[in-house]
Amino acid sequence: MLPFARVSIIGLGLIGSSIARAVRANMPTVALTGHDANPDVRARVTALGLCDDVADTAGAAVIDADLVILCVPVGAIADVAAQLAQDMPADAIISDVGSSKAGVLAALSAHFADRQIVPAHPVAGTEYSGPDAGFATLFKGRWCILTPPGDADPTAVMRVSIFWERLGAQIEIMDAKHHDLVLAVTSHLPHLIAYTIVGTASDLETVTESEVIKYSAGGFRDFTRIAASDPTMWRDVFLANKDAVLEMLQRFSEDLTVLQRAIRWGDGDALFDLFTRTRAVRRSVIEQGQDDERPDFGRTHE
Ligand code: NAP
Repeated sequence: MLPFARVSIIGLGLIGSSIARAVRANMPTVALTGHDANPDVRARVTALGLCDDVADTAGAAVIDADLVILCVPVGAIADVAAQLAQDMPADAIISDVGSSKAGVLAALSAHFADRQIVPAHPVAGTEYSGPDAGFATLFKGRWCILTPPGDADPTAVMRVSIFWERLGAQIEIMDAKHHDLVLAVTSHLPHLIAYTIVGTASDLETVTESEVIKYSAGGFRDFTRIAASDPTMWRDVFLANKDAVLEMLQRFSEDLTVLQRAIRWGDGDALFDLFTRTRAVRRSVIEQGQDDERPDFGRTHE
């Protein structure tokens, strides 16, 4: 039994197009409609045949949907919600895939006070954007965190859970604020650090940019993957999750100062103890199926 018969996806980039592909692969009888503000994206999705219908407006795309998923940058969610709230059927469920959740829930609550709101965050992605970057197996084995408001209908939450399970994801249900704190440390802070390191390296004067690129296999290149992530998406995430990110950044700065002192005073034991603990974290990530166990992320060295 399928949880939904008519799904509408607003925003057809990496995540939206991956959902469309995964729905096609796993629930082929579901009718898919889509909309994207960018006409080039709409044309590309039509050419790829990812949706049954690609509408020119958000309102037209949701008119007979029973699930609407907003897959736009978090800063655009309030705007899109306002555009389609009047047209969405009263019994349809509104959801999204935004990377921060408290602000999104507030924005959706303002426009869908009398509807079922079940926000979601699939913790899966790549550094690429746009409809050509999507793929059907993106969510396979990854976690999808649902952050429904306290008064959400359990049946609506269950239907959205089943939908994501059908796409291959595992479900966790969390309070939106807690989600934002957890993701601040597991996702947002690592992105901020990567953006900083890559920015610092490209600003150096005594080491040329060509040297930075040439010797990047020493570690730098692994940061460049994260720092290549979509600028619009990440600008919006930091602005939306300001409080949690600033809290984690404060803790990070304190820990960095401790390391700085250990290096200054030649405290090798402190460095060794920390590096031993962090190595164990990497082992846990692999053991829990969240990354490839092959050395060097499975890069070939032929
Ligand atoms: P993306 O590839 O850039 O796709 C977003 C699409 O939404 C773009 O085609 C964009 O058009 C369109 N758009 C922007 N504003 C719009 C509006 N007002 N109405 C309709 N369409 C609009 O980005 P993405 O990576 O799929 O990210 C989408 C959402 O998923 C974000 O909220 C992000 O936080 C979340 N998310 C991302 C990842 C990840 O790793 N990328 C993982 C989990 C969750 P343009 O081409 O004009 O920009």
